[in-house]
Amino acid sequence: MATQTKDYYSTLGVKKGATADDIRKAFRKLARKYHPDVNPNDKKAEEKFKEISEANDVLSDEKKRKIYDQFGFYSDSIDPAAAEAAARGGYGGGFSGGGPRPGGRGAQEVPFDFGGFDFSDFQGGGRARGGAQESGGGGFGGSFRDIFGGIFSGGHKASHGPKQGTDLEYQASVDFWSAVRGGVAKLEIQRQETCPSCKGKSTTGGSAECPECNGTGQVTQMGGRMKFNIQCPRCNGTGKVQNGCPTCDGEGVVAKREPLEFRIKAGTRDGQRIRLAGKGNAGTDGGAPGDLFLIVKVGTHPVFTRVADDIYVTVPVTVAEAALGAKIEVPTIDTHDGGGRTQLKIPPGTQTGQKLRLREKGVPSASREGARGDEIVEVKIVVPKVQDERSKEILRELAKLNPEDPRAELLAEV
Ligand SMILES: [Zn+2]
Ligand SMILES: [Zn+2]
Repeated sequence: MATQTKDYYSTLGVKKGATADDIRKAFRKLARKYHPDVNPNDKKAEEKFKEISEANDVLSDEKKRKIYDQFGFYSDSIDPAAAEAAARGGYGGGFSGGGPRPGGRGAQEVPFDFGGFDFSDFQGGGRARGGAQESGGGGFGGSFRDIFGGIFSGGHKASHGPKQGTDLEYQASVDFWSAVRGGVAKLEIQRQETCPSCKGKSTTGGSAECPECNGTGQVTQMGGRMKFNIQCPRCNGTGKVQNGCPTCDGEGVVAKREPLEFRIKAGTRDGQRIRLAGKGNAGTDGGAPGDLFLIVKVGTHPVFTRVADDIYVTVPVTVAEAALGAKIEVPTIDTHDGGGRTQLKIPPGTQTGQKLRLREKGVPSASREGARGDEIVEVKIVVPKVQDERSKEILRELAKLNPEDPRAELLAEV
């Protein structure tokens, strides 16, 4: 991309002091000569025509010409008022000195002194923060922000000053009983740890040639059609940067796998987030570490189903127990090793699928001290496997004594 500052005056073959009339005449003459209609399929003529059109576009417009005369280039991003202000003296605001090179016609590079200019605004995509530059220069800083806005986005690491470590998130499997009663769970995580060689400073103190400017202290950037020499933002024009630590490759942190043990509170629920402050990735250059977040995945149990702090269990009941009522034993979570159980009264006439509640036999609450969920027992009636004649006879007799049709209601609905 051979972009360079263009000398519009010599393109049109006029002197710098040319009048508007001189310029118009010069353009017309050249335009007749190079117009594409006159030169079909002539690439060179086409290029030339574009060049003179561009030169005419700027020089024939009084405002544009003023800007061009002042800066040695023209960009729509510069407003005329700013050009005026700049013409009166300096760039104002954060810009100091600089300006076009004296006698800069034909100069290919426009040097700017960016001393004191805060480049951090441009790094990471050039978010426009209202800054000091805008307050002093009559809008000039804003204009230049537009020109340079895209230049420094994402090019290099901003490695100045302390940087906080990032947070980490892991899913942590916790078995059913540890979640109910509390305990200790283990997990292996990978986190970034402060580099032991450079202690997080990213450098071991020596200096190296700046990779951004190859040691020259200056970098060339494009602004519109223009080429600028500016002070290298990476090394601040010194051409040198601190060397990168060989252990961490200049990152200040090294990846490390490590086993982690963490306490599980009684009543910890599935999906719960546990925050371990400062256990995330290490910061660099004295920055604080991030946090580690564990997302709890609670394991299942073959008998108990947990919903929040409640425990659900399905308990088989005989026809006789359900019909006549009974006191039965049901399992609870209270002592899982050695038969946690309690007495439950089955009321006479209990149906299958009916749910009976055992208050405060559920999981202790992790958030409300002393509170417990309930245990909900679902009754499942088991039909006896009748084989002997006597039992069959009794059932037939029972049916005769109770001639109700359990489907009557259902059929009536249809
Ligand atoms: Zn290091
Ligand atoms: Zn540099």
